[in-house]
Amino acid sequence: MSEEKKDVVLLRGIGVSSGIVIGSAHLVVGTGGEAVQFCHIDKAGVDNEIKRFKEALKISRDQLRRIKKRLAKESGGKGKEHISIIDAHMMMLKDQMLVHDTLRFIKQERMNAEWALKSVLKNIRELFGKVDDVYLKERSSDIEYIVDRIMNNLSGRREAAISEIKEPSIVVAHDLSPTDTAQMVKGKVLAFLTDIGGKTSHTAIMARALEIPAVVGLENVTANVESGGTVIVDGMTGAVIINPSESVVDVYEKRKKRYKKYDRALHHYRGLPAETTDGRRVSLLGNMELAEEITSLMDHGAEGIGLYRSEFLYLNRNKLPTEEEHVAAYRQVVKRMSPNPVVVRTLDIGGDKFLSSLEVAEETNPALGLRAIRLCLKRSDIFKTQLRGILKASAYGEIKVMFPMVSGIDELRRAKVILEEAKRELKQEGVDFDDSIKVGIMVEVPSAALIADILAKEVDFFSIGTNDLLQYSLAIDRVNEHVAYLYEPFHPAVLRIIKSVVDAARSAGISVSVCGEMAGEPEHALVFLGLGIEHLSMSAFSLLRVKRLIRSVSYKDAVEISQKTLEFSTAREVENYVTSKLASFYQEEF
Ligand code: PEP
Ligand code: MG
Repeated sequence: MSEEKKDVVLLRGIGVSSGIVIGSAHLVVGTGGEAVQFCHIDKAGVDNEIKRFKEALKISRDQLRRIKKRLAKESGGKGKEHISIIDAHMMMLKDQMLVHDTLRFIKQERMNAEWALKSVLKNIRELFGKVDDVYLKERSSDIEYIVDRIMNNLSGRREAAISEIKEPSIVVAHDLSPTDTAQMVKGKVLAFLTDIGGKTSHTAIMARALEIPAVVGLENVTANVESGGTVIVDGMTGAVIINPSESVVDVYEKRKKRYKKYDRALHHYRGLPAETTDGRRVSLLGNMELAEEITSLMDHGAEGIGLYRSEFLYLNRNKLPTEEEHVAAYRQVVKRMSPNPVVVRTLDIGGDKFLSSLEVAEETNPALGLRAIRLCLKRSDIFKTQLRGILKASAYGEIKVMFPMVSGIDELRRAKVILEEAKRELKQEGVDFDDSIKVGIMVEVPSAALIADILAKEVDFFSIGTNDLLQYSLAIDRVNEHVAYLYEPFHPAVLRIIKSVVDAARSAGISVSVCGEMAGEPEHALVFLGLGIEHLSMSAFSLLRVKRLIRSVSYKDAVEISQKTLEFSTAREVENYVTSKLASFYQEEF
């Protein structure tokens, strides 16, 4: 690395996982120039290989689009020539020979995507070698360039690039999938930064679960960072400082110490009940994705698991989990949490979570597509395997089963029929399980919220999934940084929907919890408390902050505050009101 002084760059993104880190960057863009290995793909793996290739094409297209935008902005209209090169590269991503021949090789020759692409490149080079036209010859370097980019984006390399990190570093990438994030080892990955993403994207949720500070939606961090360069990450404010001066490093070192002190002080609340000053008790539960999180959730005083995102059992593997694997996973959690309950949410795949073990057709609108319960009802074989696993594990402690993305009563009834079938089978097999296992649904689709009174008659509990409820009711893609400004948890529409779900649950006499990211924010938790919600489920980091809030307020005041929030017209007004009220009895000590 050169000794020259680098420019300081200050970027602001969306802080999605708290903590302050000062460290050196590790840019994940693939390694270029590496020898490509040949792998024979078995028949079942072909679809997955095609998916990997298509995903790499998409990432490449997105990257080029961004570069083009940046060039246009930076050159003030003078960079037409460069822009037309980028356009040409984007065209090549649709090139018949490049794309179709690669796909054909994967399908017919059963070779891995990298090798298929390399073979196609070889053919193209031969073709170009035969032409005399200088212009065309020059175009061959464009092809090389684009192939390089696709190679780099083939997910295997990215994954390798993350898992092979040797020194503790700050990972910087255009985007990270939940699968990438799940491979991050705390200690090695000090923090991560991405160009795209929003607060409730699953990558952000994973960051909080793994307690890795993170800032997403930075738009162009990959273009500004060099591997090995110093970076400061503030996961609370979303500030990222690249090549900071010594004095700025000093300021952040101090801030980091203060943050640690604050974090330690919160542990005082660990063994205390989550009870308001006038004696209203709330149960604070944990959200989990991976078994490794249980210890941290218990350390932070979780009184059970309110949301076990079981889809993470299916990620990072080529085969679907077997019934026994399901049993083992749930049994482990239920035994450790005993006598507290564990809510296992059935497979919620799709949207920004993909499975390598299950080929799901590419969709124009994945968030609105064949995902979660819809997919499970279509693939009842996969669903039944999971339900049998959950039922078998229910013999070891209190498990509840919860269906995601339910949009109407038919879906719920069909899911329950399959659950009953699984029960019948187990009875015939003489297997022990909890025959009266509680069944609930996530309320996260507006249509379900609107018919909550109807649904409440056929379930034991509701859990409000605010992440998707906001996505669908405000029409904002939860992973798209360009619409992140519309992510307004205090939008009057959101508050009204939540209130109506709580009222419906109360009239039907069933319990209701919130398990979306809103539950873990003190200002939102305050409103939920006042609406009468008794269970809140969140990541480890949020548990003690929310407990501290609950112990600082009376239920009576919380009810008054919540009622008042329903009178405002804009999210900003609600936010200002709640923040001012909150400040009178609860100061964030950091
Ligand atoms: C939600 O949608 O609020 C939720 C908790 O589920 P997920 O974030 O996994 O979609
Ligand atoms: Mg959801």
